[in-house]
Amino acid sequence: MNKEIHSVLSLLESVPRVKLGFFPTPLHKLEKLSEKLGVNLYIKRDDLTGISQFGGNKIRKLEFLLAKAIKDGCDTVFTYGATQSNHAMQTATACRKLGLNPILYLVSIVEPDENDIKANLLLDRILNAEVVIEPLNGADEAAAEKRAFEKSLEHAKKLESQGHKCCMIPVGGANGVGSAGFIGGFVEMLCQMDEIGISPDYIFHASGSGGTIAGLVAGKKLTGSDARIVGIGVSEKDGTYLNRIVALANSAIEYIGSNETVTTEDFHYDSNYYAPGYEMPSEGGTKAIKELAATEGIFVDPVYSGKGFAGMLDYIRSGKVPRGSNVLFWHTGGNTALFAEKKIIGSLSRGRQTVRK
Ligand SMILES: *Cc1c(COP(=O)(O)O)cnc(C)c1O
Repeated sequence: MNKEIHSVLSLLESVPRVKLGFFPTPLHKLEKLSEKLGVNLYIKRDDLTGISQFGGNKIRKLEFLLAKAIKDGCDTVFTYGATQSNHAMQTATACRKLGLNPILYLVSIVEPDENDIKANLLLDRILNAEVVIEPLNGADEAAAEKRAFEKSLEHAKKLESQGHKCCMIPVGGANGVGSAGFIGGFVEMLCQMDEIGISPDYIFHASGSGGTIAGLVAGKKLTGSDARIVGIGVSEKDGTYLNRIVALANSAIEYIGSNETVTTEDFHYDSNYYAPGYEMPSEGGTKAIKELAATEGIFVDPVYSGKGFAGMLDYIRSGKVPRGSNVLFWHTGGNTALFAEKKIIGSLSRGRQTVRK
């Protein structure tokens, strides 16, 4: 283990953390796909973080976020997302494990059918999380998110007047505290790659709130790694997004007590693969999901990891990633979306099946 890795690990130990997941998550080579593509393709299995069988990348952030919430004396946790939010569901599982009360304010981008509740929203109900759904009402997502946030502040105020203490976790767990979890993730991955005896040239993943890429970029900076980090966007972003990622990364670095800084030069973000929109299936994503399943028996999802995987495949096949490179796909989870509303899964349900009469 090199000096930088040692010092990052001791910085991470200086901030509160609770144990939620099963770490390190597996990292292994995709042998058949590597051969097919002409690169050395590895996968980091954050779809297997735990704590339930429906884990994902938010568990890394929650180890730091909820440790801080407990340290701050909170007994109630509010968070936000879409009705099929992986982050909200994972937050609810983690709150249950820690004895905190989860309250989820969810925007219905895809309208749930009350008679056929599916995927994460079903899990939220099984967890008995308090769910408040904010309809889009013809407005855009940002406006609905803002309304949901304002209502949650009122809700929290009422609970605090009754003696509770509330912690508000932003969409995707994306703040400096949460992103610190991916500084830890980056170091964990580097150590695993080191054991195999190689270093990653490229790291691809699906990017939403930006908390994951921010932590990875911070980890890259702090360890001096020269891996190129590529975030494949899954939703429309405005012109401030890259600077928000930089601010998140720097706030995570500051939180663990270092004065390093990152800039927009330290990572690459690509928004060419999310169309037609968030929670809407893409042709490339659908193909990528089927290709990975058919060559390796591994699942990715239509909202996040499938689009991330599709972006990576395109970079490799178009030669943007040179042949022979060491490429890592960071599997961020999200597979419950394979069981979500038809609008979300699209044509994935089509396959080879013969019905015998
Ligand atoms: C939240 C999420 C992401 C994106 O992570 P961010 O930190 O929000 O950018 C990617 N994949 C899955 C499955 C997710 O749930």
